[in-house]
Amino acid sequence: MRRIEHVIAGQLTSGTRWAPVFNPATGAVQAEVALATAADVDAAVSAARKAFDAWRDTSQTRRARLMFAFRDLLEKHEDTLAALISDEHGKVLDDARGEVIRGREVVEFACGIPTLLKGGYSDQVSTGVDAYSFREPVGVCAGITPFNFPVMVPLWMHPVAIACGNTFVLKPSERDPSVSNVIAEMYAEAGLPDGVFNVVHGDRVAVDALLDHPDVAAVSFVGSTPVARHVHQRGTAAGKRVQALGGAKNHAVVLPDADLEDAARQITAAAYGSAGQRCMAISAVVAVGGAADPLVERLAAHAAAIRVGPGRSAGSEMGPVVTAESRDRVLGYAARGERAGATLVVDRRDTTVDGHPDGYFVGPVLLDGVTTDMDVYTDEIFGPVLVVLRVDSLDEAVDLVNSNPYGNGVAVFTGSGESARRFQRAVTVGMIGINVPIPVPMAFYSFGGWKASLFGDTHVHGPEGVSFYTRAKAVTSRWPTGPAGRADLRFPTAS
Ligand code: NAD
Repeated sequence: MRRIEHVIAGQLTSGTRWAPVFNPATGAVQAEVALATAADVDAAVSAARKAFDAWRDTSQTRRARLMFAFRDLLEKHEDTLAALISDEHGKVLDDARGEVIRGREVVEFACGIPTLLKGGYSDQVSTGVDAYSFREPVGVCAGITPFNFPVMVPLWMHPVAIACGNTFVLKPSERDPSVSNVIAEMYAEAGLPDGVFNVVHGDRVAVDALLDHPDVAAVSFVGSTPVARHVHQRGTAAGKRVQALGGAKNHAVVLPDADLEDAARQITAAAYGSAGQRCMAISAVVAVGGAADPLVERLAAHAAAIRVGPGRSAGSEMGPVVTAESRDRVLGYAARGERAGATLVVDRRDTTVDGHPDGYFVGPVLLDGVTTDMDVYTDEIFGPVLVVLRVDSLDEAVDLVNSNPYGNGVAVFTGSGESARRFQRAVTVGMIGINVPIPVPMAFYSFGGWKASLFGDTHVHGPEGVSFYTRAKAVTSRWPTGPAGRADLRFPTAS
């Protein structure tokens, strides 16, 4: 059985506890992953702490050059990474390639680190006095990441942290851990010194050890809301900087003046792509007025046509969900939704895939007539289930969106600039799409939701990522020339 070990100070390091890694398309165990103990975490943090002093003193230009080399390796090995993602996550190859490309864009952003770290300088703020500012790395940073984007979500974090001069310990999801070791190999090939990027595999034991470790300065977390809340509370109680991104229920509001065919195509892709396992997946449609019937008809036609199959097969558009428990959870929600009074417009729960009797496949489900009290609406299902709620006006749609505890992403489909503008100003959501279903900001903006979708103050990557991984210093400087007089005890003011 293949074993996936930790990467600490450039060395593969074995474990004492192990967990199976499944292939969701076959249901077979394909590897075992080490589950770190607190001692393993301590070894990784110590390696990162040891590497920090030299790395923070490495010039910005050299750090940027290393990012350029790492970026080229990500491009060269795109297919290898995509295949590994597909085998452990289940998503189809093109989708996996997409996440590698979107992650690479953060590395491209980090290549500009000398520009991003430029401080300010003010000449002669008082007579003979200058003022300037610059930013310094914070130290050892930890990243704790979910299963659904095993390459892209860690890439939201470590390139920015490392380019800023920090060292990093990544604790990826134990469900699809292999790619993180390949990323460590790429960093080594790009010339990153040992200990700057480390990988500890594991579960909550590893997470809590990172949160408690006195030498971890900052923690970036992405995952479900209950764990995000825990990570934020425990990490900040230990005096660390924490940004903890949680779950989501993303709405698509469709107005009657929208291009309904286009809206249906976009929403279908956003609801069922990656089998609905995206934090920015559209999982709830809010159909306004006369948009509802024609939209549902189109959504149903698209959902019925989706080709479900193994991620590695060329014809597949949607792969399996990640675990047998996820599949059972999806089946349970669909059944409860129907019992609660929703209409199962598309019901492909019994989808089977030839040659893959034990894969975790579940086909698209579309529920209409859903109300805000049903658990198919209140819960993040994280599977290929799309629910439709009907309202009479844009204002009612905005109220519905804003009453939801999550605030990650939202989309509006409309032909009216005035409605779109009113919508973007009124919603309490961090990322908004206008006729765009998955409004993931580009790498040079920052990614983050509001409310129960983010605990902490800073979003990831982009300018907020640079702020999160650095601390500012403001210097006031004076080089006296004349003879010293009496000490002046008044509070200093500019002169
Ligand atoms: P998860 O919360 O189960 O796991 C995330 C990480 O936390 C993993 O590394 C896991 O090992 C660890 N973990 C799990 N349980 C823990 C516990 N009790 N204590 C400490 N650590 C624990 O999430 P997942 O199932 O891997 O990923 C899906 C979730 O992630 C969804 O809720 C999705 O919305 C969310 N997500 C959010 C974003 C975002 O940007 N907001 C992006 C991707 C995924």
